[in-house]
Amino acid sequence: MEECLFCKIINREIKSDIVFESDNILMFKDISPEAPVHILAVPKKHIASILEIDKLDCELIKELLEAISSTAQKLELDKEGFRIVTNTGSGAGQSVNHLHFHILGKRKFNWPPG
Ligand code: AMP
Ligand code: ZN
Repeated sequence: MEECLFCKIINREIKSDIVFESDNILMFKDISPEAPVHILAVPKKHIASILEIDKLDCELIKELLEAISSTAQKLELDKEGFRIVTNTGSGAGQSVNHLHFHILGKRKFNWPPG
């Protein structure tokens, strides 16, 4: 998957501002933030989107969601509320075909999203 932008970030071929790393997971700041806190959480294993979630084992999925939850709490996003987003498909705005969860916080969010 050498053409995948997030695989290149995971492999340190492209620099990023890393906020959390484990054997299976990387979290880094979004280069074009849509909120005062905007972090991307990705599994190191390449899958294109949540539509391929069955390619990840249960432990990894749990670890990923726990890392998102604990990072949100560490950054005190839970005080005012925060949003987790995974755009899926071009119609929903997915521009990088490597599963990622946006963690957005420290501003007011509207519902429904645009
Ligand atoms: P999506 O559009 O939902 O697929 O999200 C992809 C996200 O990746 C966008 O919010 C981009 O701003 C972000 N992004 C693109 N290139 C980089 C990069 N080199 N480092 C960090 N984030 C990036
Ligand atoms: Zn990838």
